[in-house]
Amino acid sequence: MSNKSNLKTNPDACPLAAKCGGCQLQNMTYPRQLKWKQARAEILLKKFGNVDKIIGMDNPLHYRNKVQAAFGRTRGGKIISGVYQSGTHRIVNVDSCMTEDETADKIIVDIREMLPKFKIWVYDEDKHTGWLRHVLVKRGFSSGEVMVVLVAADSRFPSKKKFIAELLEKHPEITTILLNINDRDTNLVLGEREEILYGKGYITDILCGLEFAISAKSFYQINPVQCEKLYNKAMEYASLDKSSKVIDAYCGIGTIGMAAAKTAGSVIGAELNKDAVKDAVSNAKRNGMKNIGFYCADAGDFMEAMADEGESADVVFMDPPRSGSSRKFISSLLRLKPQRIVYISCNPETLARDLGFITKGGYEVKRITPVDMFPFTNHIETVVLLSQQKPKFTVDIDINLDEFDQTAAEAKATYQEIKNYVYSKYKLKVSHLNIAQIKQKYGIIERQNYNHPKSENSRQPNCTPEKEKAITDALKYFKMIE
Ligand code: SAH
Repeated sequence: MSNKSNLKTNPDACPLAAKCGGCQLQNMTYPRQLKWKQARAEILLKKFGNVDKIIGMDNPLHYRNKVQAAFGRTRGGKIISGVYQSGTHRIVNVDSCMTEDETADKIIVDIREMLPKFKIWVYDEDKHTGWLRHVLVKRGFSSGEVMVVLVAADSRFPSKKKFIAELLEKHPEITTILLNINDRDTNLVLGEREEILYGKGYITDILCGLEFAISAKSFYQINPVQCEKLYNKAMEYASLDKSSKVIDAYCGIGTIGMAAAKTAGSVIGAELNKDAVKDAVSNAKRNGMKNIGFYCADAGDFMEAMADEGESADVVFMDPPRSGSSRKFISSLLRLKPQRIVYISCNPETLARDLGFITKGGYEVKRITPVDMFPFTNHIETVVLLSQQKPKFTVDIDINLDEFDQTAAEAKATYQEIKNYVYSKYKLKVSHLNIAQIKQKYGIIERQNYNHPKSENSRQPNCTPEKEKAITDALKYFKMIE
């Protein structure tokens, strides 16, 4: 949140909030954040039905089980570690963060303090000198296992043994340590190569009663406490039994599908990322599950093939990325005609667009519940249950999906509403880009194409103060900001 004066409205706000910018809602107390998220979800989704009360956290602090710290130096030469200031490559020194696991933060600070004694130099991104670039820590909240990954510019580590011994002495809870080599000029934290320095090279954790192996690179839920609540709600909506045939689309490492496979007859997962599919297969094996299989495929292609082959499914879980689902996926879903669809979404704007198409295709929204997965940020996760309507009318599967390639329909309507409001009240004409700039300023995340100029050197005109004031007023009017 760049607006420092706003932060004064919450006396408990993080002292680094203005510098860091990672948490957009630091100006609000936690109960107000939940109200804000509920209101956002309602604006976008209430036309589909009642939005149940958001499921918040009992204790919203230190929920992240994975912490990544960049290492560098101040101009004065002091070693610092922490996060990049939002939108920049400047490191903000962090000793402790309200969202991050406390053990992980302590380990990172101790590593930082150990560096001079071991004559370990931090990496300089401009000069390409030095060694330590990042430290990544993952902790299994249920298992208590802790992984530390030192990300360095090359594999030379002369004081390795002594360094590891001292780190383990300070933190006996560490169960594995890895060295990851990132020798490229890149924004990615992890490089390809890795070496196990201590322990088994991965940690395990329990989620929904299932065991998962977590390596340095594998994806795993960041907030396992809320993730269980989200999955429990999804399972409640799915009302599975031994005869249910289930599809888990956009399945990642298979967590939802595996939670479903405990009750369902059979589950098939589909996922594009082949490393995630590998993890999904080995996780299913680890838990001795025989009624689940995974395909590495585009979810749209997979669903189309299922529909073409006349396959059937009783329940489809879908958990697409922020951009939402594809045209091919939804039209095939409507041909497949599952009894129930459980849509899990991390972006209520694309969710609203997709629900528009699915409800036009013969489904009814039965339940909508937002879940707060990322307190202090403006992210909103939602789980929706759709059921097949009893055939009052024939389902037209060739519904017009042309709007798909454009702006999310809901977002477009909102933009138009903002434009209309500004014009009728201030007689000012404002552009999409103007609105996007102001929304971004208030931390309302925009889709990629509004955030970035089309080409590197294209210029983005700045909004005039007069327009900014009018748009800010509109955002307040539509309850998008406080
Ligand atoms: N359901 C999982 C992951 C959801 S995140 C969980 O709960 O953990 C969305 C997933 O969709 C990511 O794993 C991403 O790799 C995958 N994905 C993105 N585009 C896809 C596509 N076109 N087809 C299939 N999977 C896709």
